[in-house]
Amino acid sequence: MKSFKLSALHTLESMEVPAPVIERGTDVLVRIGAVGVCGSDLHYYTTGRIGDQVVEYPFTVGHECAGTVIQVGSEVTRVAVGDRVAIEPSLSCGSCDQCVAGRENTCRNNLFLGCPGQVEGALAELMVMPETNLFRVGDEVDFGMATFSEPLAIGVYTVQQSQLRQEHAIGLLGMGPIGHSVMLPAIDLGCRAIYCTEKVDARCDKAVEAGAHWAGNVDRDDVVREILSREPAGLDIVYECCGDQRALDQAVELLKPGGRLMIVGIPECDEVSFAPHVMRRKEITIVNVRRQRGCVPAALELIAKYPTHVDRLLTHRFAFADTEAAFDFVEHKRDGVIKAIVEFA
Ligand SMILES: [Zn+2]
Ligand SMILES: [Zn+2]
Repeated sequence: MKSFKLSALHTLESMEVPAPVIERGTDVLVRIGAVGVCGSDLHYYTTGRIGDQVVEYPFTVGHECAGTVIQVGSEVTRVAVGDRVAIEPSLSCGSCDQCVAGRENTCRNNLFLGCPGQVEGALAELMVMPETNLFRVGDEVDFGMATFSEPLAIGVYTVQQSQLRQEHAIGLLGMGPIGHSVMLPAIDLGCRAIYCTEKVDARCDKAVEAGAHWAGNVDRDDVVREILSREPAGLDIVYECCGDQRALDQAVELLKPGGRLMIVGIPECDEVSFAPHVMRRKEITIVNVRRQRGCVPAALELIAKYPTHVDRLLTHRFAFADTEAAFDFVEHKRDGVIKAIVEFA
């Protein structure tokens, strides 16, 4: 089968590799239909690493994927040949203290698709996954939309962890796919006001179109002053969705006393800083988000409930052969791209 592999920084090469085969009774062979390009894939493409996870070439990235079941192991009951499925990319061990405590997302033996040193990613024609990682999707949801269940599940989980309530005013700093993935469940909950910040004008427009009450460009607007002029008491929750030091500083300024800072973005650097006196005086709670657990079904429900909303976020679709162009588009945020999808013929 064909697979796209990172072979150097900024280089994706199509290679012929052996097709995966079913080894356990609970395994399922899936023909991949679409793969979403994620910010984390892009970190590996542009810098070859996230923290101490370093790519050894050649390596296949990609973890936002969906496809069709083409073969099932002898013990599989959850899906059948021909089913269209969204794939949960995280493989937890089920037996460590974290899994036993119901915290599969911090499993000590976790393997994640397209993570260096763990499992090869989804930018390939075929993939074998355990049946528990597969979620059936209806015919009305195309594969591109189904791949969005991965970032959207993180958004659903983030909103759960943030204890968001309807009366809250919130900030979303960084309106890429994760910013939007947090916004959709917040809209669904009916939260009172949503303020967004971004560096790309087209993304600001998209945020307002999607339901933000206000969106500003951090490179041009004094976003803290603009937001606080509309919410003088400050914001209840700020979701940092871009991994940027400036956004972390703005988040602390924007929050009201007792507010909650949700850190979802992945920074490119290894250390960030906080202003301790402001945080302490306001008694800010900081919550880190590690992917998600158990939120794929809720994400698929949101996709079914808001199809036009989700479709609007899948701004660019590329053929499998043009995978490198998809990465280039996302890296340079060309043409206001939010989510680029690679589709298989
Ligand atoms: Zn992702
Ligand atoms: Zn575990």
